[in-house]
Amino acid sequence: MPASPPDVVRTKIVATVGPACRDEAVLRGLVDAGVDVFRLNMAHGSVAEHQETLDRVRRVADAAGRAVGALVDLAGPKIRLGELPGGAVECVEGATVRFVRGAEDAGADAFTVTYAPLLDELAVGDSVMLADGTVSLVVEERSSAEARCRVVQGGLVRSRQGVNLPGVKLSVSAMSDADWKHAEWAAAAGADFVSLSFVRSAVEVRLLKELLRTRGSRARVVAKIEKREAVEDLESIVAAADVVMVARGDLGVEIDVAGMPMVQKRIIRMCQRHQKPVIVATQMLDSMQHSRRPTRAETTDVANAILDGADACMLSGETAIGAHPRQAVEMMRRIASATEKLYLEDRWQYVEGRFGRDSRGAALAAADFPPPPEFLVDGLLPITQAVVDGASRIAAELDARLVVVASRSGVTAIARSKRRGAVPTLGVSDDPATLRQMALYWGVTPLASDNPGDLGALLEEVSAWGLRSGRLQRGDRILLVAGIGFGAGGHNMALVHEVGANRNPS
Ligand code: PGA
Ligand code: MN
Repeated sequence: MPASPPDVVRTKIVATVGPACRDEAVLRGLVDAGVDVFRLNMAHGSVAEHQETLDRVRRVADAAGRAVGALVDLAGPKIRLGELPGGAVECVEGATVRFVRGAEDAGADAFTVTYAPLLDELAVGDSVMLADGTVSLVVEERSSAEARCRVVQGGLVRSRQGVNLPGVKLSVSAMSDADWKHAEWAAAAGADFVSLSFVRSAVEVRLLKELLRTRGSRARVVAKIEKREAVEDLESIVAAADVVMVARGDLGVEIDVAGMPMVQKRIIRMCQRHQKPVIVATQMLDSMQHSRRPTRAETTDVANAILDGADACMLSGETAIGAHPRQAVEMMRRIASATEKLYLEDRWQYVEGRFGRDSRGAALAAADFPPPPEFLVDGLLPITQAVVDGASRIAAELDARLVVVASRSGVTAIARSKRRGAVPTLGVSDDPATLRQMALYWGVTPLASDNPGDLGALLEEVSAWGLRSGRLQRGDRILLVAGIGFGAGGHNMALVHEVGANRNPS
């Protein structure tokens, strides 16, 4: 009996590792449930712990026979409160609190922070947000020794919580000494992605890229968009980055949370124009930290991120410290699966060339979907782009089951992924690092091959894999995108193949 085709879910899942899932058996369960990339959050834990986590992730992925990526997330210039008396202080609306220099504890109304020049850079009228934006202060008076702030919205603040300064331009450098050390470790440890928090400009992204490159790393750099400055300079940051993250946790405090949904859409559209994979992060299934079921708003949020054009959705506290890490991954996968079904029916007609079969569907897709790419990613040649586009159309026209992309660096897989085609993509490479990066790209299933350059052998290999896994049946058509010839540059060929046709014509 032929195996029924496995449920192909195109949207990728990034899961943050933390105490709730760091155990090897739990990590294995998360891989089985569908995690594609694990995030190692360098804001917590020691390098030795992260090395152990990375070793576990690699072991678990190998055992499952899957390419699973590792994303090392650098904390960047996050400002935190110092120690508070008794660990927590209640800020009362209308009361005054002070920010003071130094680390000495100066009483219950005096806060210290981890960023020494803060006092020099705050101005009267600036707002200061604490406790994830639930507590807000405004600076009323400033001297060289302290900044006096009025509590506009009160609440409880705890030691070492983050401090957000919406709209305040800080001179703090993009990477602290700790970030630098963590980046060097990431390079040495073979991280697949390295993200930088609180990016403010494209220069900062290029600095990290350069640091990694000179250390021999091929990690792709993720720019986390979570500052107002980054939103203002979005296009150059997206152009400089390899991957982008809509980091809604801090973004939703640094800009007006009410305007954040439209900023999310703008960022995703920009990534579509520049063909950059984009991750939507934070609070996607937040209530599942404590509950086995998400709220309606959360399932809708995940679905909408996919409709916006997100390549991946990220789980943070849900997997790092939550009570139900595996259920959160399973739920995210179920939402993705259910969303993609209808979404792809519309996409099928509109983008892949099937105009007019159902005008309602076409109109819906046109309204919902971001425009086709306008810029070539670094390393993507115009010939490759054209061949990928052509292959995508042929695949749709012929009801193909699979678009196979042989790719050394993975950029061809990105180009195919950003078409958001309904036909699933198989990203074939002989390079394990490339395969792990492909794990993040929407619609791309990574497959290792020893000899992706030999087209005949590759077709045999893919057919055998497809028949074995239930993803293909005899007679199915597949599209192969590859390069032949004498260094003409790029993938210059699209080939249609019928599975089993050369051996067993029907
Ligand atoms: P964080 O980044 O979890 O490292 O803060 C993501 C976010 O801010 O959304
Ligand atoms: Mn953040």
